[in-house]
Amino acid sequence: MAFILQPLPYAYDALEPYMSEKTLGFHHDKHHATYVATLNTLVKETEFANKSLEEIVLATYNEASKTSIFNNAAQVWNHTFFWNCMKPNGGGQPSGILAEKLNHSFGSFDRFATEFKSAGATQFGSGYVWLVLDQDQLKVVITGNATNPLVNQQIPLLTCDVWEHAYYLDYQNRRSDFLQSFLQHLVNWEFVIQQLQMHQLAHA
Ligand code: FE
Repeated sequence: MAFILQPLPYAYDALEPYMSEKTLGFHHDKHHATYVATLNTLVKETEFANKSLEEIVLATYNEASKTSIFNNAAQVWNHTFFWNCMKPNGGGQPSGILAEKLNHSFGSFDRFATEFKSAGATQFGSGYVWLVLDQDQLKVVITGNATNPLVNQQIPLLTCDVWEHAYYLDYQNRRSDFLQSFLQHLVNWEFVIQQLQMHQLAHA
């Protein structure tokens, strides 16, 4: 079973003006698509051909001979997750259980937002900034290149792709402005809450 490129959950121009149609088109149809195609080539007729993305990511992490498989599998997973973390007219503040947990872990939503933006802005080179569930705590973490929090036994709840390909056409070198727009206008908090609830149900 080959891996497939999941379609975007909204139209290419749905996130304008905060993420342009051009950025989203290149990012999904070229970058994400290439990770899927490369992964399929790499795992064909190997022990990984019938494994899930998560299984491949966990099995190949830190395995020197399997770096390419890890990078492409993780990038396929990360991008699908990233698309789901956004929606048109998103952003702002969440409510309910997530608001309570953010307050509990960070003191306030604003302190979470400041930490998320500053972590994303300081990630050196390519990578991601995440909100994760680690044991029972919410934390902001950054990962380099393709790495994601699954390899550290953390539950990803939200991510922003801070590779230059995610924002350069729209914001050039102003990564902080991109992160600000992401939190103010793009985050799909319903998806984030769903990730939290799925995890809590699985461990109830
Ligand atoms: Fe990307």
